[in-house]
Amino acid sequence: MTVKIDTERVFDLIEKKHPARIVLNAPGGLLRQTMDLMQVVEKKYGVQCVLVGDTCFGICDTVDKEVEKLGASLALHIGHNASVQEVGDYTYLVDAKDDVKFDSVVQRSIPLLSKYKRLGLATFSQHLDELEPVKKQLEDAGFEVYLGRKNNLLLGSQTFGCDFSTVFENAEKVEAFCYLGQSEFHAVGVALATGKPTYLLDPYLEEMRDMKEEAEERQKRAILGVYKALDARVFGVITGLKEGQMMIARSKWISNRLQANGKKVIQLAMRDITPDRLAQYIHIEAFVQTACPRISIDGFTFSKPVLSIPQADALVGLLEGREMKDFLHRPKWIELTVGQIPRRAG
Ligand code: SF4
Repeated sequence: MTVKIDTERVFDLIEKKHPARIVLNAPGGLLRQTMDLMQVVEKKYGVQCVLVGDTCFGICDTVDKEVEKLGASLALHIGHNASVQEVGDYTYLVDAKDDVKFDSVVQRSIPLLSKYKRLGLATFSQHLDELEPVKKQLEDAGFEVYLGRKNNLLLGSQTFGCDFSTVFENAEKVEAFCYLGQSEFHAVGVALATGKPTYLLDPYLEEMRDMKEEAEERQKRAILGVYKALDARVFGVITGLKEGQMMIARSKWISNRLQANGKKVIQLAMRDITPDRLAQYIHIEAFVQTACPRISIDGFTFSKPVLSIPQADALVGLLEGREMKDFLHRPKWIELTVGQIPRRAG
């Protein structure tokens, strides 16, 4: 795998902004390349760089609020390419792209996909440039292929682990989705959100994998979590402290609904929501967290129910006498606030 950070953009920004110090953050898979970049920048421009070492799972994990605290004037958030380019007062998104090609895995997948006529394509940040070549290859093989439209946060056919809005709009038109890359995490999300058969096209192992079992497993656990929480008397409602997923209004709404239905609520706020952090709240019987939904949907190691926003909506519905619907079948599982807060003037 050769993932390359867009260093030209970094150099351009430094030459325009003349920062005194730079704050960077990046997902775990790009830390080595980011540290290499820091060395290059320090050598070329004599500017100090500080890497924020907290967890960075998505575009919601920007660290704009740390910039002033660290005596810096520019932040670079690496590897979560999006249609948004700037976040907060100081942060610029810097793309990282993988140069792996998909022609071989697509060729192998064509016979397996032949039971379908209409396919949708989806992928995550690093493979966006491969969408058009894969579309053409599949069309040449006789498929009708649909790409999703770009919106205010995502590029065309791009998904995050919580936002499938670009491909959701094609779900009625297609019979199945192909997800480009190695990320089962993202592909399972598409399967759950769209309800369509979804296949991961892995260019490294050169194989196509059906996400059906993984999606069903998560869906069952998500439903079970809601039913387990139904009888809890004391809830912890957790607001995430990460910049792009701070859902204060949602936490308030859920707390109010739980209280109106006879539940006791303790409001909590946390940056990282992990089993060991929650274990100390022994008097709380169930949690709702309004931060990253994947903490709940993929979090198999919590000892008590920890519900995401869609699960909490289902729980409130049950408490208020409504039937449980397919609560994960929606274009977004959380309304990310990334890019919605205007920059300070100047
Ligand atoms: S909230 Fe969304 S973008 Fe952020 S880490 Fe979770 S899935 Fe990714």
